[in-house]
Amino acid sequence: MTAMTAGAERRRLPLVAANWKMNLLRAEAVAYCRTLRRGLAWPQVKVILFPSFPLLPAVAAELADTEVTVGGQDLHPDERGAHTGDVSAAQLVDAGCLWALCGHSERRRDHGESDELVARKAAAAARHGLLPLVCVGETREERMAERTFEVLARQLRAATGGRSDRLALAYEPVWAIGTGETATAETAEEVHRFLRATLAEALGERQAETTPILYGGSVTPDNAAGLIAERDVDGFLVGGASLDPRRFLDIIAVCA
Ligand code: PEP
Repeated sequence: MTAMTAGAERRRLPLVAANWKMNLLRAEAVAYCRTLRRGLAWPQVKVILFPSFPLLPAVAAELADTEVTVGGQDLHPDERGAHTGDVSAAQLVDAGCLWALCGHSERRRDHGESDELVARKAAAAARHGLLPLVCVGETREERMAERTFEVLARQLRAATGGRSDRLALAYEPVWAIGTGETATAETAEEVHRFLRATLAEALGERQAETTPILYGGSVTPDNAAGLIAERDVDGFLVGGASLDPRRFLDIIAVCA
């Protein structure tokens, strides 16, 4: 399928998100935002930035009069209290966020986050009016053992927990994150279709059809066109390639 054909059939606006992870200092983030706003020319593509916590106020201020929205890379599920180093949903809102990333595989790996904790984080985000972008994905071992769909269904059912809050999903195969290895368009579409069907079972057809499902895992301007041409791939969560605003703009352009 070509990108043009897919665009004509597309039911959801494309959404492209930058996960900066633990990168950039304030001056670099401000310069990035200025390059981004000068280069943005595709109002039909929704753009989100996920900077590290200390950068959030500066980034939100730089982008305040644009359509670009901002999110936190994580949050604590509790309202407040003795959780040194953590950030609450209310603090994200206060710092200018509209989104919260929940369950990124690097947090599941580095901080032992369980499906249950990810679900509590998504619920806390939703309570405060933040849109959770929930990440799911299988490891290489799970794929080799043909457990991909079982793992994804478990992660997704736990994260949604039968609630019908607005949310977005990112399919991020762990073996493709930061490795330079990308899922083929066919593999991504097969998984995205499965995730949409699982969402329909959990939350109903209507929510499944309106929920954006992004692909993440070594997305670049070169491989984005093939992936976005698929019917159920609604955009991207981009790590490495999002650190250069020009490469990020090129990915946005491909989705327009
Ligand atoms: C990510 O961290 O969400 C990600 C997809 O990273 P990368 O694009 O570098 O694989």
